Amino acid sequence: MAPEHLVVRRPFDDTVYGVLPATPPDAIAPAVARARVAQRAWARVPVTRRAAVFRELARLILAHRDRILDTIQEETGKARISALEEFLDAARAVRVFASQAPGLLRPSRRAGAIPLLTRTREYHRPVGVVGIINPWNYPFNLPASDAAQALLAGNAVVLKPDSQTPFTARLLAELFALAGLPENLFQVLPGSGSVLGPALVAEVDYVMFTGSTATGRRLAAACAERLIGFSGELGGKNPLLVLADANLRAAAAGTVRAAFANTGQVCVGIERAYVVGEVYDRFVEELLAQVASLRLGAGLDWNVDVGSLASAGQLAAVSRHVEDAVAKGAFMLAGGRPRPDLGPFFYEPTVLSGVTEEMALCREETFGPVLSLYRVASEDEAVERANDSRYGLNASVWSAGRGEAVAARLRVGTVNVNEGYAAAWGSHAASMGGMGESGMGRRHGSHGLLKYTEPQTVAVQRLHPIAPPRGVGNKGYADVMTRAIGLLNRWG
Ligand code: NAP
Repeated sequence: MAPEHLVVRRPFDDTVYGVLPATPPDAIAPAVARARVAQRAWARVPVTRRAAVFRELARLILAHRDRILDTIQEETGKARISALEEFLDAARAVRVFASQAPGLLRPSRRAGAIPLLTRTREYHRPVGVVGIINPWNYPFNLPASDAAQALLAGNAVVLKPDSQTPFTARLLAELFALAGLPENLFQVLPGSGSVLGPALVAEVDYVMFTGSTATGRRLAAACAERLIGFSGELGGKNPLLVLADANLRAAAAGTVRAAFANTGQVCVGIERAYVVGEVYDRFVEELLAQVASLRLGAGLDWNVDVGSLASAGQLAAVSRHVEDAVAKGAFMLAGGRPRPDLGPFFYEPTVLSGVTEEMALCREETFGPVLSLYRVASEDEAVERANDSRYGLNASVWSAGRGEAVAARLRVGTVNVNEGYAAAWGSHAASMGGMGESGMGRRHGSHGLLKYTEPQTVAVQRLHPIAPPRGVGNKGYADVMTRAIGLLNRWG
């Protein structure tokens, strides 16, 4: 039987933060029905007026900074500086999407079947009700930005937040309401994913999922069964490349941010670094000095760089990868220990070398503060090894002049040159997502918004139908049309 309540615990000290009712599975269909009614009215609101709600939302997010940061931190255990990252991201993303939406949704004139006689336009109609399922690692900016794009496109949204972070989702819903979003267009349905997932997929018209590749695969299959759209932002084992011409101090600082921000629980975060031999030793020295200066700790203040892992499950998964690697001969260069003195789920930022194929750490996503270093002979080897993964989410390239050329050879959805992940992620007008087993579909940018629409072609025929004129036989019509199409084909 599904639990009746969700008990949310603070990762900082494993005490209870709050309790709220879990959504029973039979409440999903009525919620989607309410969303459908609201959506029909919302789709008729001009997109410029819809956009006004999101401009106001961006303002409200900025105005509620401390409450948002506190709630995120209490539910996830992340450092305040990491909570700030998603707060800033959300505030900027919804504003950018509000600016982009009217242009992207404008109907486009297309060449008609018969020049002058057929006037053809392509429209973007909303899909209807979008189901969004989110993980715990970014509980504010992911639903804020995904919902913003779905709603701007004229849809309603039902959000199933992660069971660990429902209060952050509720706070977001409160801000949507304050911004003037009509009732029932954004509903939060907290509860277990395995319990609510099937009911949600059975009712909605599109599923936007962020989470593990395993769950994404199951949901994609269920959506395929119903022939509804699915977009999945899934796992990664993201590589970072340090080339011979890199600024090593900047590369080391960027690597530290990319590997240990959000305590390493970042889908686009870096878990493996390929460093060309001639700069390897100097890079490692610089990196380890910077890792040693990281401040770990619990609490809602600003004096911490790295917070807690999110749960006992996360601590177990990270410990398992590191212990397995060390048992099989990896070298520990930094960290490598839980820190129960700081809180029950703390783990030190960890750097390893000598990681080999038989270690789980080598290819599996760790999703924690663990970085593996590899010495490579050349740029070519770095590219080859970076691409040797079933994932393809994000990559980072550090180089004074080779970054964009290397990017063209990497099989990933985003490449950050001289930054870890934030430059591409924060380019909200451009698409974000993964190749390979890192996902399908994109969020952000035109792909992120238009995926929540169905293209509809409307062709208006004027003056004469597409048929033989009165008094002209089929043979005469065939000859005229053959010549006409021949002429048209000469133009293009
Ligand atoms: P997860 O287990 O797949 O859970 C994610 C969400 O899916 C949660 O809300 C969960 O609900 C729900 N869920 C679980 N089983 C479900 C089912 N059968 N049907 C429907 N929903 C279901 O992922 P996680 O391990 O918590 O999250 C970490 C993963 O997310 C990592 O692999 C990370 O790389 C990925 N991620 C990717 C991105 C990206 O943009 N590519 C961003 C962030 C995270 P409950 O709360 O009940 O568990």
